[in-house]
Amino acid sequence: MPHTQIETLLTQQGFTEYCWMNPNEIVVAQWVRMKCTFGCPDYGLGACPPNTPSVEDCRAFFNEYSHGLIIKMRKEIGPDNDFKQAEWSELMTTRLLELERMVFRKGFVKAFLLNHTCCNSCKKCSRNRIDCHDKRRAKPSPEAMAVDVFQTVKNAGMQINEISDKMTEITRFAFLLVE
Ligand code: SF4
Repeated sequence: MPHTQIETLLTQQGFTEYCWMNPNEIVVAQWVRMKCTFGCPDYGLGACPPNTPSVEDCRAFFNEYSHGLIIKMRKEIGPDNDFKQAEWSELMTTRLLELERMVFRKGFVKAFLLNHTCCNSCKKCSRNRIDCHDKRRAKPSPEAMAVDVFQTVKNAGMQINEISDKMTEITRFAFLLVE
């Protein structure tokens, strides 16, 4: 696996914090799906459960890859709290999708992105896959694929902030599966 080739693409897209890992080590858990189903306001969006595979199928899917990247994105929240999260989030999504496309075009045909957030691109979501208004852009988040992000990131040796009432920055994680 020519890591340096892909790392050049990461740099081109402005991603400087990342680590390589084995997708077999992605922690998948039923409780993550339960959290999506009961309590998450995004449940039912087009790229979220119940429009994503079963937890067992998510596990099987990850096992089909031997290389994965965890990509960390951070944004400071200013003291005046005028940070426009939706705009930043859409920008990160655009860059991640471009990265996935570039990795694919290097010959890694199985490249697949788990986006850093739920797809919220449209004012009115189709709430199913078939009628999705932007099928190329609507990628599932790691959580939508039953990934225990906190544990997976920690196991990979990356820094992850503890949850706190006083958030001074937003931290997000995307995964890129490569083969
Ligand atoms: S692209 Fe639009 S319709 Fe498709 S999942 Fe995202 S928000 Fe829903």
